[in-house]
Amino acid sequence: MTRVLRDGRVYRGDMGASARKAHRTRRQDVLDQGKTLSKRTFGAEIEYHSEGAVTKGVVAERLEAALGEHVHVTGYHGQSCLRCGGAVGYDKWKIEHDGSLHGSGHGLASTTGEVVSPVLTGQAGLETLKLVLATLRDAGAKINNRCGFHVHVGARDLDQDSLARLVTAYSVHERQIYSLLPRGRRTNRFCYQWSSYFYRRTPDDVQRIAKNFLGGHGGWDKYTGLNLSPYRRIGTVEFRMHSGTLNFKKAEAWIQFLLGLVDASVDATDGLATTDKLWDYLIREKYLPKKTGEVLDARVAQYSH
Ligand SMILES: [Zn+2]
Repeated sequence: MTRVLRDGRVYRGDMGASARKAHRTRRQDVLDQGKTLSKRTFGAEIEYHSEGAVTKGVVAERLEAALGEHVHVTGYHGQSCLRCGGAVGYDKWKIEHDGSLHGSGHGLASTTGEVVSPVLTGQAGLETLKLVLATLRDAGAKINNRCGFHVHVGARDLDQDSLARLVTAYSVHERQIYSLLPRGRRTNRFCYQWSSYFYRRTPDDVQRIAKNFLGGHGGWDKYTGLNLSPYRRIGTVEFRMHSGTLNFKKAEAWIQFLLGLVDASVDATDGLATTDKLWDYLIREKYLPKKTGEVLDARVAQYSH
């Protein structure tokens, strides 16, 4: 018997008891180090602003030096790079113009932007993000309360049952998820909670609308906390509610949590929607390191008053 596990490795039924035990121990070691076991893809969008000489062109140069590869700069959803003239896809880091930030124009001389990652994967992707955030801080990039930190999570591998589990778990735990974030995010018009966006609908209706959209019917507003609209275009779902940040500890905990949530939705885990506390459940089921749960608990305490 051979089957592919959720993290992409192949499980062979002939694995002996001692090999199975060693395998479990290795996985627990990774979690104990505070690292995610997920091999799921994700992408981050980091909105920032800067001042004076720290233009988009300068930020791109600094990122390029740190990463050792070219960084594109584009206008809002621009298809070609203002620096190299080349076509822009999802294979390189880029800095886009962002219309939601007050700033000084669209071009290389502007001092606001959104740093968009290429497709990243698992803990290795998080380590690249760590380098980018440190470089942005060193370059003089700043965050204000208009900035967001958006995370796309790869969901192309999810079948309709898995998508339904994700939608239900998110809908049930939405308030708890927003409790991880500053209060201003709970009423932000660029990341509405489903419960307020669909304020006259029952939770069952909202879940039905979401599942219909993922199944190919109807529309979806991108300015929702869990934005489903990219799913039909590029196979991702976008979590938009996180406040702008250049703090890796916060970013890492948030992304590990989202990867764990989507991974758990793939497996038939009934407790996902019924558990009292989502991240405790993910820790118990080995989707999330215990240390990450401690970071999330500290954030809830920070924003609860
Ligand atoms: Zn370029």
